[in-house]
Amino acid sequence: MKDTSNRYTISEKNTVQKLLLSWFDENQRNLPWRAGYDPYHVWISEIMGQQTQMDRVVQYYNRWMGLFPDVSSVAEAGEQEILKAWEGLGYYSRAKNIRRTAQVLMEEHDGKVPADPEILLALPGVGPYTAAAILSIAYNKPFPVLDANVERVFARLLDLDQSVKAVSVRKKLQNFAKELLPDNQARFFNQALMELGALVCRPKSPKCNCCPLTGRCQSRQRGTINLRPVRVPKAKTIEIVMACGIIVHEELIFVQQRLANDVWGSLWEFPGGRLKEGETPQQAATREILEETELTVSELRPLETVVHHYTKYRVTLHGFTCRLQGKKQTPVLHAASQYRWVSPAGLRDFPFPAGHRRLIEELFVGKNRKKRRK
Ligand code: SF4
Repeated sequence: MKDTSNRYTISEKNTVQKLLLSWFDENQRNLPWRAGYDPYHVWISEIMGQQTQMDRVVQYYNRWMGLFPDVSSVAEAGEQEILKAWEGLGYYSRAKNIRRTAQVLMEEHDGKVPADPEILLALPGVGPYTAAAILSIAYNKPFPVLDANVERVFARLLDLDQSVKAVSVRKKLQNFAKELLPDNQARFFNQALMELGALVCRPKSPKCNCCPLTGRCQSRQRGTINLRPVRVPKAKTIEIVMACGIIVHEELIFVQQRLANDVWGSLWEFPGGRLKEGETPQQAATREILEETELTVSELRPLETVVHHYTKYRVTLHGFTCRLQGKKQTPVLHAASQYRWVSPAGLRDFPFPAGHRRLIEELFVGKNRKKRRK
C-alpha cells in the first residue's frame, strides 16, 4: 500500500480541515442527538447506528428517548421492555449490553457516561469504535473514528489499492485520521467525515461535484473511484430453511421465550426449526413443535414465507397456522424458558425476531382481509 502517513503538508492538512468543517457546518443533517451532544444521547445513537440506515436510527432513537430519557430509566427497565423497544433493529445483544452498561453506570459512575477511554472500553458492548465516537462526539476529545463511511472517503481520497479491512491498512488509516484531526474540533471533524461518506461519497454514484475535497481526491484524478475501496470477495451466503407453527387454541396463540444464551436469546417466538433433509416445511413444523413442546398439531395452513438476510446467512422461514390435536394443552418445554397462550392483540406486547414479527403482521393482514370480504 502507498504510505498514507504524512501525506499532507501542514498547509494541505489545514485546507482539508477547513473545507470539511465548513462543508459540515452548511450541510449536516438535523439529527436529534446533535441538539446538545449529551453523552447518553450520543452513546445510544452510536450503538443504534451500527449496521442500520439513518432514517431507521432516528425513528428508533426518538421512540427510545421517549421511553428511556436517561441512563437511570434504562437501568431500571426490565430486559423485555428493552428488547421490545429494540425490536426490529436486530443484533439484540446490543440492546442487552446497553441495559447492562446503564446498570454499571448507575452503580459505579453516578449515572454518567464516562469520558475516560479505559473505563469506556471496560463497559459491556463498548469497543474501540464506540469509545472513540463517544469521546470525540460527546466530549470533543481528540480520538479519530473510522467507520465504513470514513474508510470509504479515505480509500478514495488516497486511492488505496488494498482493502481497508486489512489490519496493516487499518492501522495506517488510524494514524492518518489522527494526524488529520484539527485541535479542539474532533466533534465536528469526525462527524464531517462520516457525514461526507453518508451523503456525498456514497458507495454507489458518489456526488463528486458536490464534494468539498474533489480537487484533492486521488481516485477522482485517476479514474479509480469505482474500484475504491478495494472489495474483498464476500463469503458465500449460507442458506437456511426453517418452518414454524402458530398454534391457535380457543382464540389464543402459543408463544415461547427463547433461552437466554441462544441466538435471539430472551426474545419470543413460535416453535419451529430447520428442515431436515427430505422434509416438507409442514412436516418440519409439525416435528419441531413436537420436539420443542411435546404438543401435537394438525390442520397446518401456510400463512407466509419470509426471507431474511443476515451478514452471512439467508434464512427462509415458512410460517403455518395450526391447531392442537388431542387433549394435551400443557407443553413440556425443551427449547424455551417459558411460554404463554396470548390473544392475537397481545402478541404486540412481546419482542419477536424480525421473521416472526412479519408472520404476526401477516396474521393481522389476513384477518382484516377476511373481515373486508364479509
Ligand atoms: S471527490 Fe468523489 S470520490 Fe473523491 S472523496 Fe469526494 S465524493 Fe468521494
